[in-house]
Amino acid sequence: MNLFESVKAAVTVRQAAEHYGLEVGRNGMTRCPFHDDRHPSLKLNESYFYCFGCGATGDVIDFVARLFGLSSYEAAQKLAYDFGIDPDKPPTAAALEKPKYPLARAFRQEELHCQRVLCDYLHLLERWKVQYAPNSPDEVLDDRFVEACQMLDRIEYLADILAFAELEVRVKTVDMLCKDGTIERLEERLNRLGKEGDAHEEPEIC
Ligand SMILES: [Zn+2]
Repeated sequence: MNLFESVKAAVTVRQAAEHYGLEVGRNGMTRCPFHDDRHPSLKLNESYFYCFGCGATGDVIDFVARLFGLSSYEAAQKLAYDFGIDPDKPPTAAALEKPKYPLARAFRQEELHCQRVLCDYLHLLERWKVQYAPNSPDEVLDDRFVEACQMLDRIEYLADILAFAELEVRVKTVDMLCKDGTIERLEERLNRLGKEGDAHEEPEIC
């Protein structure tokens, strides 16, 4: 048996999911770490998983690869190492690396939350920049236009990081945004504006 086969024979998807911090119900359902899942829609079977929400599917190696952003081979090595399979073969550095967040799911939820807030704010700023642009040079600038000009680049930059950067950078960014209260403040503000009818005029898709 090669590494892939021995890992798949030894570890069920459910065992891996539980080992890496997901809460799995008796029916094998859990909240999906691959999309913003509020109710468990990921079904964990012995040898494969399937998400009724986002369609994510695969075997235990695919699962771990996706969870930690590893290649299939690294994921197989990580599983082998974490579950004590084939201890003779030394695992690669990537497979040995402990996840920055012990609870991968918690991180994904937090990240998706940050993405949603940044995205909402970004759309709002884009709209303000057009809607409240001055019509003549001597017009007093609207606060919303000023804010849009000042903030757009930074928010766009942060949204890009969460969408495209390496896992490690994303973890640091999410950490910073949550710890310094940026996300919380933005969310409060967006909620307030939403109630006043100045945000969310049309549903936006990021
Ligand atoms: Zn899903």
